[in-house]
Amino acid sequence: MPATLAALAKKHLYRRRRVVEGPAGRELVVEGRRLLNFCSNDYLGLAADPRVCAAFKAGVDRWGVGSGASHLVSGHTAAHQQLEVALADFTGRPRALLFGSGYAANVGALSALLGPRDQVFEDRLNHASLLDGGWLSRANFDWYAHADTADLASRLGAVQSERRKLIVSDGTFSMDGDLCPLDRLVDLARQHAAWLMIDDAHGFGVHGAQGCGVVDPARHDCSDVPVLVGTLGKAFGTAGAFVAGSETLIETLIQRSRHYIYTTAMPAAMAVATLESLRIALAEEWRRTRLAGHIARFRQGAAQLGLQLLPSATPIQPVIIGAAGATMDIGAALEARGVLVGAIRPPTVPAGTARLRITFSALHESADIDRLLAALAESTTT
Ligand SMILES: *Cc1c(COP(=O)(O)O)cnc(C)c1O
Repeated sequence: MPATLAALAKKHLYRRRRVVEGPAGRELVVEGRRLLNFCSNDYLGLAADPRVCAAFKAGVDRWGVGSGASHLVSGHTAAHQQLEVALADFTGRPRALLFGSGYAANVGALSALLGPRDQVFEDRLNHASLLDGGWLSRANFDWYAHADTADLASRLGAVQSERRKLIVSDGTFSMDGDLCPLDRLVDLARQHAAWLMIDDAHGFGVHGAQGCGVVDPARHDCSDVPVLVGTLGKAFGTAGAFVAGSETLIETLIQRSRHYIYTTAMPAAMAVATLESLRIALAEEWRRTRLAGHIARFRQGAAQLGLQLLPSATPIQPVIIGAAGATMDIGAALEARGVLVGAIRPPTVPAGTARLRITFSALHESADIDRLLAALAESTTT
């Protein structure tokens, strides 16, 4: 064991946690220092919103803290039920089902829906929970080049037609910030009689009309995208996740998903808080408008600095550095200048593509973006 840890350290891949001393916000207090926060997924700035906090407290007063049991025993309260109905409505699906986390939702759904006689196709850059779910399901696993629908089409064509097939993709890719080629995926799924599962953890609340996400229910219903996953810990600022789809899909998951059955229900108060954050996310369009302004300002400034951006129009803006060591050094230099960004290394991203992962929030001000750009100018040229 110690040898393995030493080897990680030598490759600049050793991970350390930081102790944060305040709520997620525009700034973070980390080990006694106040830093501008460009590394949280709280895109709409709802994680510490006073109305969401008040709803959470009211939920605790009404329901207590712990749910006491799994959903199937006695942990499924009227608050959970109300949130599931609201999420079904929000996604334009007949039903939605709450899970304790996005990780559990993905592994739980994939392992319940697939078996050894099935075939799963995953985008190479899918989130770890989607890849793990595909592997754990014991289905025949195939992965296609990132967002490459020609590659996917040839792999689909190579599989016996009687096998059940599921195509799985992130909606918004968590480390690159780009969107999946949704319309092409829908077409391919239809041509090859495959199912399509989209996990839009980073898109809900952020994209589209009223933050409906990458899968706009007005354009793509359940027959186009039968399995839709979202998480609550990102733009909605709370915790947990959901799968949305048909009555049959949801009932199948309730009967068969071990990650749903054998785990304690999320606190009911969390469902109450999430109902409030969902209401705010739908109503306050200015949050998305402001985010779009920050993204444009950053991309223009970063291009002027000659930084290597990716084609992302989302609040996830990677700056590719390449080597893990150099990425860590630049991250530390930014931090010395009061700016906190994510420094992402393999195996989270492919070798040679270590990067700064910069994320924006509706809580940022334009001057914060300028401060970030100035710090990047100083930190990347030394
Ligand atoms: C964050 C994320 C998850 C995991 O969600 P948690 O609720 O944090 O467990 C799943 N899928 C994608 C694409 C994510 O970005």
